[in-house]
This record gives sequence, structure tokens and C-alpha cells, in this order.
Amino acid sequence: MAATTVYKEPAPQVGNTENPLESMMSRFNIAAEILGLDDTSYEVLKAPDKQVIVHLPVMMDDGKVHVFEGYRVVHNTILGPSKGGIRYDKNVNLDEVKALAAWMTWKCAVVDIPYGGAKGGIICEPTTMSVGELERLTRAYTVSMKDVFGPDRDIPAPDMGTGPREMAWIMDEFSKAVGQTASAVVTGKPLVMGGSLGRTEATGRGVMVSCLAALAKLGMKPEETSVAVQGFGNVGSWASKLLFDKGLKVKGVSDISGAYWNENGINIDEAIAYKNAHSGRLEGFEGAEPMDPTKLLISAVDVIVPAAVEDVITEHNAPHIQAKLIVEGANGPTSASADPIINEKGILVVPDILANSGGVTVSYFEWVQNKQGFKWSLDMVTDRADRIMADAFEKVYAVSLKYNIPMRIAAYVVAIDKVAQTYKYRGGY
Ligand code: NAD
Repeated sequence: MAATTVYKEPAPQVGNTENPLESMMSRFNIAAEILGLDDTSYEVLKAPDKQVIVHLPVMMDDGKVHVFEGYRVVHNTILGPSKGGIRYDKNVNLDEVKALAAWMTWKCAVVDIPYGGAKGGIICEPTTMSVGELERLTRAYTVSMKDVFGPDRDIPAPDMGTGPREMAWIMDEFSKAVGQTASAVVTGKPLVMGGSLGRTEATGRGVMVSCLAALAKLGMKPEETSVAVQGFGNVGSWASKLLFDKGLKVKGVSDISGAYWNENGINIDEAIAYKNAHSGRLEGFEGAEPMDPTKLLISAVDVIVPAAVEDVITEHNAPHIQAKLIVEGANGPTSASADPIINEKGILVVPDILANSGGVTVSYFEWVQNKQGFKWSLDMVTDRADRIMADAFEKVYAVSLKYNIPMRIAAYVVAIDKVAQTYKYRGGY
């Protein structure tokens, strides 16, 4: 599709910054306009295919039954079976799940893997629940979604609050429901039961690969570059570790317990060892000084990597960002209202749907291996994933130059163009 419109910086949209669905849609609208997307394709791609809401009665350890609300949103299956994680968190809501599902569609299209997008979530507080309660909840959710999930239909994966343990329960419960072993119904499984080598670090690794690619475009040397990483879970800790290994100075890190700063650089191996020994939290880590968490993303570093939650870069803190580069490990960390401020400041942003797509790429490899009944070596996984990430970065960067648009909008242009073109070939009613 040819471009019909010149990109215009949208006015800041004060007041809607906390809704990730609105943030996603405002970028979608800009990209659709640049592409000259026809009305039919626009309507088809805008709305999710399917939204399932379930209420799950689960026996808690105290003998009382608690009814949990859960969601699965399948945004789109034009490119293939839908793919997307399951989030356990007290703040999960339908709009958030809808936005996350759409981001999965765009993400898979950006890295050119044959998946559509979906996302799931359950309103719960996983850190306060026992293993037994979590297992009963996960199995109940799986049974309620047995007609949604499927190795060629909709393939869940971990997201915040879930991991290999929950994926193993889902695989087991789904397999029982369909009467056969269905390894490929879910990715992010433990290694012994069909998980892929390299999946755990895949998202953080993709963040590292895209960060290095962006530094090269900016003419910056890794060993002369400082970074602050928000979030020290799967994505943040692996991104920190791999950037640290590449010689970047990680001056600041944070998690839910607070933020930590060391002007001379934090030893990330020590920080990870400390976190692993202290219930997954950095609280009390002595390799850095505690700092005000609200200052982390506006601290004096060259690169910031938000790798925790949505809407942490807003019109309020964006004017104070000192970094030259933002690499989005989290989904939706920048609200739409912050985009024009960041662009005006000339900060390069590697957007979420590109920067954190290493995870879904290796999830795809896991699914392929399950379907092949074969296991790839770690080198095979990382070489292929790194190549996909590097190619996707170059494609998006080239589109951003071609239309003179920020990389975020360029990533949406690449993704929407691919899905819309495929939709045209497949046709409709
Ligand atoms: P996680 O649960 O492993 O870690 C989340 C981290 O963020 C924890 O360290 C937590 O303490 C911290 N945190 C939570 N709220 C915070 C706050 N307000 N300030 C600072 N830190 C805070 O989750 P994850 O898998 O690392 O996911 C992080 C983000 O990356 C999410 O947006 C997720 O959707 C996205 N993502 C994850 C993957 C993946 O493969 N895990 C893939 C793509 C995108």
C-alpha cells in the first residue's frame, strides 16, 4: 500500500494516558492514515475477533470458595493461530487485555512470524496465593478456555505473574480435556516437558539486540554508554545482564521494592544473585544506593529500558527524560500523550512491539520444535532469534526513514501493512 498522508505530530492527549487500549489505538490510527488503510481493513483490524469473560469458582485453602474473573481476548488470526501470554495481577482489566492482545498481533507481524494476537488475564494476587490455590485457579481457567485454546487455534504463554509452572498445568489440563498430549498448546513450558532452550532469556536478549542496533545508528559505543532499567523480573534482569555483558554501564535498576543507583555501574551478576536469594526482590541490595523510584527514568543515563508495567512514561515525566534512547522491554510503557514530547526532544525509541518481540519469537520456535518433535540447540535458537530481531529492527528503521516518522509508528506501519495485505488475499464474506 502506498503512503497517502504526510505524518503529522498528534497533539498531546491529556487525560487518557492511563488507558493502554486508547494509547494503542491512537498509534494504530496514525499508522493507518500513513498507510492509507481502506475503511474495511481498518474496521476489521481495529476490533478484536473474540472476547471471552469467565468466572471461576476456586476453593481457597481456608475452605471458602472465591470466584475469580478471567479473560481471553483473541484480537486477530489473519496471519495464523493467535498467540499471547496470560497475566495474573490484581489490576488486570478487559481494556488492558484488549490492548495487549492487539499488540501481540502487531508484534508477530513486525517479526514476520505466522501468528495472530491474543492475551489472557485473571484478576488475582498471585503473590498472596498458595501453590495449591494457583494450581486450582490455573486448571479451572484452562478448562473454561478449552474451546478457545488449541495448538493450531490459540496458544497461550507466560506474562506477568505466570511462568513455566503455570504453563505446565495448562498443558496438562488441556491435554486431559482433549484426550491426547498437546505440548504445542502452550509455550514457555519447563525445559523437561518441551520448553525451548533460550526462551527464559529471549525477551531480554531481544531488548539487548535492538538496543545495540539502535546505539549503532546513533553512533554510540556500548562501552561508553550508561543505562537505567526499570523492572528486574524476567525481562529487566535479563536485559540488564546481557547489556552489562556487552560492556554497558548499568547505573540504575528498580523493582517493586524500590530503585537502586550506583554511579560507577551496578554489578548485575551480583544483583541477580541477590534477587534470587531474596524472594525475587532487590530490597536490601548493597551493591547500589536506594534512590527515589520516580527519578529512575529521568536520571542522567544514555539509555532507559522500561521493563515493568504500562504507562510509566507520561506527559508528566517525558519532558525531564535525559536519555537519548528508550528501548521498551515492557508492553505499553509509554502513554500516547508522551510520544510528541519524546519525538520533539529527538529521543530515539525502539518501541515495545519491536524491542520485546524476542520472547514471542522464541515461543514460536518452541511451538515449531513441539510440532517437529525435535529439540534445537541453544546456538540454533539464539542465532535465529538474533537474526530475526536484527532484520525486524532494520526493516522498521528503514520505514521510519522512508516516511520520516518515529520508529514506533513505523513498527505499526510495517505490522498493519502485513496483516492488511494478508487479509486482502484471504478475503472475507
Ligand atoms: P515479571 O513479573 O517477571 O517482572 C516484573 C518486574 O517489574 C518485577 O521485578 C517487579 O518487581 C517490577 N515492577 C512491577 N511494578 C513496578 C513498578 N511500578 N516499578 C518498578 N518495577 C516494578 O514480568 P516480566 O515477564 O519481566 O514482564 C515485564 C514487562 O515485559 C511486562 O510489560 C510484560 O508484558 C512485558 N513482556 C514480557 C515478556 C516475557 O517474555 N516475559 C515478553 C514481552 C513483553
